[in-house]
This record gives sequence, structure tokens and C-alpha cells, in this order.
Amino acid sequence: MSRARRSNDWGFPRWRGYGSSREAAQVRLCDRVGCSEPATCPAPKSPNSPERWQFCQAHAAEYNAGWDYFAGLTTEEAAERERSEQQTSAGYRESAYYGWAGSGDGSRSRDELRALEVLELAPDADFDAIRKAWRSKAKEVHPDVKPNDADAARAFQALQLAYEVLRAAEERRQWNGAA
Ligand SMILES: [Zn+2]
Repeated sequence: MSRARRSNDWGFPRWRGYGSSREAAQVRLCDRVGCSEPATCPAPKSPNSPERWQFCQAHAAEYNAGWDYFAGLTTEEAAERERSEQQTSAGYRESAYYGWAGSGDGSRSRDELRALEVLELAPDADFDAIRKAWRSKAKEVHPDVKPNDADAARAFQALQLAYEVLRAAEERRQWNGAA
């Protein structure tokens, strides 16, 4: 009766009979690694994303506690958080992050879009607008202007990183003749 159903116990998404004897009652399990509670709480993987994690109540609460999400993080920290989340959630999507190095179709990657958000620009902003926004914003929080201001330093770093992401992407496009 309680014979283990190994064949139900692998793969992704993590479905499994909940309760060893009731195979008919398949439940979605929590996406948090090592958790075998049934997942009852969907949570968005990132802002504006239709993709959802499926968590048990406890892990949804834990996840939601950190759900200001990218707000207040530098682009680098946000990327790092996303990367580690992807790793802890089975490591099967990490290539999506590294995929930003170029789809080659001329459209903007998620990292570029995030960088544009940091610069408060529209998704279709051209590179002149990017350069202008970066210059004027970076000027406001430049360490020379605001020495010993940790918030300003963080903002400055985020702007630098955003600009680097966009500049590199722009160069790639020009190399590809897609600019
Ligand atoms: Zn859980």
C-alpha cells in the first residue's frame, strides 16, 4: 500500500502523489528546494513576469518578505539575487540570465530593459537618450558631488552598471550590423 512510487519522484515540475497511498491526488509541490509541502501559493518570478513560482504557504511568506524585490538593489545585486534564486530552484533556468549576451535579433534583453529602468527611460529609448540620461543622472550622485554618501554611491554604481550594459549591447548591435 505504501510502496514508494519512484517514477513519480523525479523531473520538473515537481509533481508527486500527496500521501503515498492516494496516487490519484496529485499535487504540485513547493518549488523551494528540499520542501515537500504542497504548493498552494503562486508568486511572480519577477516584476511584470507572467511566470510564477509555486510555493507552500511558509515559503511564499518567506519569498514575499523579500518582495520589494529589485527596489533598492543595485542592478548587480538584483542580478545576483536572480541568479541565486534560479540556482536554488533547480538550476535549470540559469542560462536565461547568461543569455543576455545577445540573442542577435536586435531586440532588447531583460538586462537592457532593467538598465533602462534604472535610467528611467522607455524600452525603445535610443542610445543618444541613454547617454544623456546617464550623464545627467550620474552627475547628480557623483562621488565628487556627494562624498561620503552611501546612497549616492550606490545609485552612482547602479547608473554606471546600467550604462555599461546598454553600451555593450549597443556595440554588439553595431558589430552585428543591426543598429
Ligand atoms: Zn515550501
